[in-house]
Amino acid sequence: MEQYWCATLLIPKGVHKLITKFCRNFLWQPEDGKRKMIMKSWSSCCAPYQEGGYNIKEILSWNKCIICKWIWAIETKSESVWAAWNYKYNIKNEDFWAMEVKPHHSESWRSILLVKNELITRTGSIAEAKQVLFRSVQAGKLNLSLLYDYLRVPAVKISWAKGVWNTAVLPKHGFIMVLAVQGKLATVDKLNQKGQCIVNRCILCKKDNESHQHLFFKCSFASTVWIGVLQWLRMSYRTRNMRKELQWIARFQKRKHWKARLYSSSLAATVYCLWEERNCRLFREEEHSSEYILKRIQYVVSVRLLFVTNSRYKNEVVDYLQC
Ligand SMILES: [Zn+2]
Repeated sequence: MEQYWCATLLIPKGVHKLITKFCRNFLWQPEDGKRKMIMKSWSSCCAPYQEGGYNIKEILSWNKCIICKWIWAIETKSESVWAAWNYKYNIKNEDFWAMEVKPHHSESWRSILLVKNELITRTGSIAEAKQVLFRSVQAGKLNLSLLYDYLRVPAVKISWAKGVWNTAVLPKHGFIMVLAVQGKLATVDKLNQKGQCIVNRCILCKKDNESHQHLFFKCSFASTVWIGVLQWLRMSYRTRNMRKELQWIARFQKRKHWKARLYSSSLAATVYCLWEERNCRLFREEEHSSEYILKRIQYVVSVRLLFVTNSRYKNEVVDYLQC
């Protein structure tokens, strides 16, 4: 039903605001209704994975892309009854690309003309607007995802996206991993920067101040977990910087070897479990040992990796994980 209305009419501003609010709350609001602190803007959440976002389609931009299907049908003089009817009763002898909205136009025709005008404004000219449509065609059909990509304003690309977003990484782990790499988790140092007065003490080691770098790398509790994970992976070096680690994994991913997926899955699971343990101690007053967390990481990573690995390599993976 939503898809039908999105393809026919421009979503009113109030409805767009409400849908965005629902989506944003789904990401940031816990089930008990208490509002969480929003650490990442909605527009950056809507960016593609390669630009550090969550690949969420921005509803209004997507709505306009779907309406472009009708512009494409008119431009290509599609043989559909819809196009023929509009040529006869709406366009008549006028030039569609030069048409302006008039009071007697129906709401759906009005939406098409408004999107067409915006397309011309965004691209700079009628010729360029047509070019964008033609460049978005694949196998004779307008590819809406391509068009969506052409019409949005691109941000700087990141080099570590493939280290996070691959089949071996659970989506919830990827979600926290992106926030951790970008330094956007609500650690105490961040909350203090935002004006909240909280005593800064890492709840995992109870020694130093809590920050991203401390919580995931410098903390003695986190170090014990990392040592266990690296021994399990048979890796000899210490992880010191998340971004560099992910860049290395992303380069390694190009080989498409299951070990690359194992490393990225383990890194994301470790970061997720450390953050989960921190929240468990802080909000539920429950405490788990580093051995318990290590076992949890090994279990989650093994199950996920076996689930996504080709049956040809499954025995190899089982042998590696059991040794
Ligand atoms: Zn600590």
